[in-house]
Amino acid sequence: MTSMLRKIKLDLHWAHWVILSLSLILTFSAWFVTSQKVKEKSRAEFQRDTQQILYSINERMKKYENALRGGAAFIKVVNNKIDLKAWREYAKHLNITKRYPGINGIGVIYDVPANQVKNFEKQQQKDRDYFKIYPAHRQSRFLPIVYIEPEVSNLKAVGLDMAHEGNRFMAALRAEKTGEPQITGPIVLVQDKQKTPGFLLFVPIYLSAKKESFIGFVYAPFIMNKLMKGIFSNEYPEVNVKITDSNEVVFNEDTTVKSKNYSPRYTKIVKKKIFGRTWQFGFSSTPSFDENNSSAEPIYILSLGLLIDVVLLILFISLTRTNRKAIEYTEQLTSDLSRKQKELSKIAHQDKLTKLPNRRHFFSILESGLAEASNKHTLLAVCIMDIDGFKQIIDAKGYDVADRLLKEFAKGLTANVPTAVSVARIGADEFGLIIPNIKSRAKINQYLDDFSKAISESQFIKNFDLPLTCCIGISIYPTNAEAAKELYNCADISVNKAKEQGKSQRIFYNEDLHHQVKRQHAIDFAMQKAIENEELTIAYQPQVDISTAKVVGLEALLRWDSGFLGSVGPDEFIPLAEDSGMIITFGHWLINQVSKDMTLMAESKALKNVNVSINASIVELLEQDYAETIASTLKQNQIDSSEITIEITESTLIANKEAVLQTLNSIKAIGCSLALDDFGTGFSSLQYLKELPVSLLKIDKTFIDELDDTDDYTIVKSVIDMAHGLELEVLAEGVETEKSLQWLKKAGCDYAQGFYFYRPMRLEDLLSVVR
Ligand code: C2E
Ligand code: CA
Ligand code: CA
Repeated sequence: MTSMLRKIKLDLHWAHWVILSLSLILTFSAWFVTSQKVKEKSRAEFQRDTQQILYSINERMKKYENALRGGAAFIKVVNNKIDLKAWREYAKHLNITKRYPGINGIGVIYDVPANQVKNFEKQQQKDRDYFKIYPAHRQSRFLPIVYIEPEVSNLKAVGLDMAHEGNRFMAALRAEKTGEPQITGPIVLVQDKQKTPGFLLFVPIYLSAKKESFIGFVYAPFIMNKLMKGIFSNEYPEVNVKITDSNEVVFNEDTTVKSKNYSPRYTKIVKKKIFGRTWQFGFSSTPSFDENNSSAEPIYILSLGLLIDVVLLILFISLTRTNRKAIEYTEQLTSDLSRKQKELSKIAHQDKLTKLPNRRHFFSILESGLAEASNKHTLLAVCIMDIDGFKQIIDAKGYDVADRLLKEFAKGLTANVPTAVSVARIGADEFGLIIPNIKSRAKINQYLDDFSKAISESQFIKNFDLPLTCCIGISIYPTNAEAAKELYNCADISVNKAKEQGKSQRIFYNEDLHHQVKRQHAIDFAMQKAIENEELTIAYQPQVDISTAKVVGLEALLRWDSGFLGSVGPDEFIPLAEDSGMIITFGHWLINQVSKDMTLMAESKALKNVNVSINASIVELLEQDYAETIASTLKQNQIDSSEITIEITESTLIANKEAVLQTLNSIKAIGCSLALDDFGTGFSSLQYLKELPVSLLKIDKTFIDELDDTDDYTIVKSVIDMAHGLELEVLAEGVETEKSLQWLKKAGCDYAQGFYFYRPMRLEDLLSVVR
């Protein structure tokens, strides 16, 4: 809890604290001010009550004084000629019980010298035989109560002498001396059965203005309780009155205060002179005062204020929390997003199968590797590894095994090169290595050897019954190139070169290759304008019927005399034109040109109806409308399609057999013939020969060149026989010698083509040479 509070405390914004503090200050100020006001109000209330009580007492005492003074005046007026009856009349007239409820009675006291006491008694006994002055004492004068009305309730006082006892006597003497009403100190009235405190009020009677005319007093006995109740009975329940005279409690209203633990909110002591005595009034507030003056307002304000503060605190905490939650949520979202982003970019940069960086990522790794190498002036190597015969592996083992193989290869690669070396899958069966900070070629060779060894020892590869090898092309920064793309191209050229040389070859890029690349770039560039600049021509090489030595056909061979590069051989530019797709454009141009040339040939006797062979590249054969284009071009130039033969090679069938077969059938369908070129250099599969719609087999020049012993002759002869068995005609390529021709004649070969007869030549030459 405390830690939570501390956390909250720490987390609240400073502005929240300021608002909370201000609110608390306001709350307590409002509470303080209102409670002060309430206090003041209640104090004033108490003050007013006590003043009213004092006022009431004062008024009442004046009223009693007046009543007594009235008695004294009456006696003076009648010159003291009063008797019991007269006094009774007078008292009755006053109606004491109703109009003076505090008075116990009103009486007359006469000043009787000691020697006249007996006489006085006798005189009074005329009316009341029970009249007797008492108690006896030795004072020179007696001050007996003579009349007291109502007498019945005050009977005990009749005849009581006031001079017999100091308290009463002193008050009487003061009254006589001052001529003013005086009261006694606290006494217990003889007639009070309850024996509660009381006092007597004396008003002196003078018959004239002279002092000697004093005859006695009109007096009244008071019982305190009765007097006070008459004055403020039940009128001031909120104030308690306690009256003391010379430390003696004469009145204490304190009957309402039950709780002993109660301490009055307000107390007040007032000393007041009452007819010669000093009374001390002790006022104190009562519980009912507290009740009536207890205002809930300050507490209400305090509670409400604190409530608001608590609500504010809760609000701020929840705001802070919501805020924190929002922040947490945002952070969560951000991290989710960035994680997702990372995942996505990983996917975008990762090869699905091997989980290695893909080709695109390979280049970004290479870029940063090159930047670092450039900064640190170190060497960096790029290796491209191309698995040997991967297509054959797929054909033999299927895609699942091939995939598994790639995974194992990738795993082996990652496990056996140092961590600094980056590994990526950059093609179907191509892997790239970026080796930073290389010291020597030997070191690179060592990595590659270690890896090859590890791969061949891998259990999966061991279980795999074909040997797994790869060709590797290596380029080095900055020796071979400085830019990533160029460096990659160098390695690519190297690996292609390595593949040309066979399996498991490793080639470091060198200057020759470098020039090759440069030249390839130049060729690529120049080829774009070859047609536009009319740099393309066609060389026709005649094909001869061996038995008649007559020209029966022509092979159309592309020639390119670049204004920029000079003469570029088809062996060099055709593969590049295939890579760039330019070959399609060239093919269109060629068929169109051949058609035009054939119309010219038609005018020549020797070349009339001669068959023209056109070489088709794999790229062209994969074009869906290849046959259609040929057909429409021939039609435009009114050339009979049966005069055209399309030459294809076995290699075109390897990867895309179905698509190529479809094109071949289309070519057949438009009426052209098909020839299988370069026979003997590829798989030379008889299976293919059966399936293909070809009618001519062209035996490659390499076989013809070798035709100088019986073994070779036997091979060529059996090929020719086999072809004839399949109802195919056979043409021998590259016939350069008479000897070769004789061998071929003997073997039963149908046609021949080669320098021995004709070199490829321009149409105009052809027209003049072949007649
Ligand atoms: P290919 O189809 O095998 O063409 C025959 C090649 O052998 C031609 O080379 C020709 O000049 C050469 N040749 C013919 N007789 C002899 C000989 O007795 N001795 C020697 N040493 N060579 C001989 P060329 O014209 O340089 O063509 C090379 C290759 O370029 C062609 O081989 C063909 O595959 C390709 N090619 C040429 N023109 C085209 C074309 O228009 N389209 C396509 N797709 N490929 C073409
Ligand atoms: Ca050919
Ligand atoms: Ca050929």
